[in-house]
Amino acid sequence: MKIAKACVCCGTDRLKRSPAILMPFLACRVFGWESVEITPDWNMRDLAPGRAHALCNTLACEDCGLLFLDMRFDDEEMAALYADYRGPAYADTRARFEPGYERRNDILNGGSAYIPAIEAMLAPHVGTAPRVLDWGGDTGLNTPFRGKAALHHVHDISNKPVVDGAEIVDRGRALGERYDLVVSSNVLEHVPEPAAHLAEITAAMGPDTILYLEVPHEDVIRLVPDRADRPARKRHWHEHVNFFTEEALGAMLDRAGLSPLARVSHPVSAGGKGSHVFSVIARRQAHA
Ligand SMILES: [Zn+2]
Repeated sequence: MKIAKACVCCGTDRLKRSPAILMPFLACRVFGWESVEITPDWNMRDLAPGRAHALCNTLACEDCGLLFLDMRFDDEEMAALYADYRGPAYADTRARFEPGYERRNDILNGGSAYIPAIEAMLAPHVGTAPRVLDWGGDTGLNTPFRGKAALHHVHDISNKPVVDGAEIVDRGRALGERYDLVVSSNVLEHVPEPAAHLAEITAAMGPDTILYLEVPHEDVIRLVPDRADRPARKRHWHEHVNFFTEEALGAMLDRAGLSPLARVSHPVSAGGKGSHVFSVIARRQAHA
């Protein structure tokens, strides 16, 4: 794990820092850390007793407004967190820290109901039977055009079996295929280097390939208008380690050589609760 010194979307080092905690589920699954009660029998000369959790920082980019966790997990830590994502071991550990999680896990594993609305947004650009690569698509359950796509490839680190009609591909195979649509849905909020990740995905796109990018439009970004007030409203970090603004998305797209064709923020329902997401449709810049 390293500590970010620059914005992972726009690259500036103009960052504001404020203290926060890493949520116990993440601290346990990534690092094997448990919170601990400091009691009088520790005989600490200068420390007051109390519960100690894993300390981290909220970083706020002064240029693009990205709000992010300072800890950036390495490949091994990402694998520890996302191996067999939402599988039995993941759900058991998470339920230990978050009572009632099992039910939400089952709903999440049942798939998202709003995918037809995403397909309707994309159809004018790619038709209704495109050749699709879902980069970070888990089992392929929520890939737009699932069951209708002319080709359904999934590239993912979770190593789970994929749904009928989908095929797992490695990075080399993905870079050698021709796709009409490349999807990155609800992935960039989890990764340590989202701008670099997006640039890597872009390498699988030809000049006519359409990108569908979806990330959460988190409440603290959406509902707290003054950026300066946001860090104090973000005191804990969980799986979403990047909270994007429109400017942060714009900076990442530009660095990856992509031009947005459409960008909306809209309400969706997933995992039994409502939230908002940014949906971005983009293609390679003419000169890129
Ligand atoms: Zn930034």
